[in-house]
Amino acid sequence: MPSTSSPPAPLLPGWYTLGEPPQLIGSHCAGCGSHYFPRLATGCRNPDCSDSRLEDVPLSHNGRLWSFTTASYQPPAPYVAAEPFVPFALAAVELERERMIVLGQVVAGVDLDTLRIGMAMELVIEPVPAENEPAGRLLWKWRPAGAAP
Ligand SMILES: [Zn+2]
Repeated sequence: MPSTSSPPAPLLPGWYTLGEPPQLIGSHCAGCGSHYFPRLATGCRNPDCSDSRLEDVPLSHNGRLWSFTTASYQPPAPYVAAEPFVPFALAAVELERERMIVLGQVVAGVDLDTLRIGMAMELVIEPVPAENEPAGRLLWKWRPAGAAP
């Protein structure tokens, strides 16, 4: 039985740092400079690159909202929704340096009508509901940059 007092654990250990600011951990190809998220276990996916020297690198903490959609209904299992269900947004954010798109849920409490393509976003780590774990599990989310935590 998990203890009700233990702090939440990462949902996906090794996918992101929990420091301040938190960062996703990706792969960087030493040959062509491409970035990947999640990390690659095998060689570079660039068809013009035969390099296999991939290193783990922290990715940009900031980005721009590239696209988003709202979820106004509760997703089916195995998704574990908060009770009661509250509509949320899924954001596609273009990372500042890597210019790659990373999906993630928008933090709760953001008025979905205020989301605008191109707005500055930042990565945060928050608990998400998890089955049989009162504290939930930690996962990355996006929020408008500079918004109150
Ligand atoms: Zn490469």
